[in-house]
Amino acid sequence: MPGVTRPVDALLDFLRAEEARGVSHVHLDADARAILRELAIQAKRPAAAPARPTPAKPAPVRLESPASPSVPPLSALSSQPVAPSGDSKAARLDSLRRQAETWRPARALGTLRETMVFATGDPDAEIMLVGEAPGYEEERQGEPFVGPAGQKLNDILKAMGLAREQVYISNIVKFRPAMPGQTTNNRAPSVEEMASCLPFIRSEIEIVRPKCIVALGGTAATGLLGSADAVAKLRGRWYEFDGVPLRVTYHPSYLLRTTSGNTDKRKVWEDMLEVMERLGLPISDKQRGYFLKP
Ligand code: URA
Repeated sequence: MPGVTRPVDALLDFLRAEEARGVSHVHLDADARAILRELAIQAKRPAAAPARPTPAKPAPVRLESPASPSVPPLSALSSQPVAPSGDSKAARLDSLRRQAETWRPARALGTLRETMVFATGDPDAEIMLVGEAPGYEEERQGEPFVGPAGQKLNDILKAMGLAREQVYISNIVKFRPAMPGQTTNNRAPSVEEMASCLPFIRSEIEIVRPKCIVALGGTAATGLLGSADAVAKLRGRWYEFDGVPLRVTYHPSYLLRTTSGNTDKRKVWEDMLEVMERLGLPISDKQRGYFLKP
């Protein structure tokens, strides 16, 4: 059917783009090979079969233990965007943003909404905060973390002595995950959706070169570290993503829901104190004591 993109076409596009870049070999691990087999089966289905099938259940993805975090295997199927052009960090980020708008691996899934929401903040920031995907309010305003979770994130930054404009805020997935009959409700992105957008957050990290990354919530941690472990297990230590120190903490929206009083707020705050210490930011006694009373 003309105008309909199958997942296998996105893969072919990727391979052709890699070939054009001079890449002659692509590493495929066992999981990536399983996904390829599934794509091959889909491609061979008779024409009467739906042209844009609900993507077949993704092949099981092996996730590493937190002791040895690794990039999700699906990253083997995600390509680097064409090298972003521009003289400044802002120009290169803008070039990425434009590529994201029509990024075929993401569009081809057919499970993400149309409006692209990229990132906000300072391209020279020392701290990069990474969430999962835009929600209703972010899609409406075209900016990450502007809904209730964004307000909470602003509060956390303020407690650190920082304004939103002084950090770089992004999401792994650049489109709001779609749901049937969707109004203001949101869902977390799938591993496939994250894999399709992973090249962007990678490039953003390469351009911004923050001194540290904070993964906000379990979904962002899964996308960046490839671990399915809960935040409770992942937080409390430093990881590395593409050479940049990374810390995992609870998602701000979890703090809006939690009934633990100050207990979980303190945990997030302790993660942020670690970040501040690492960056050599000033910390007052008052700041050290935030949320100590349950
Ligand atoms: N939650 C996220 O993870 N990202 C946003 O941009 C908004 C809510």
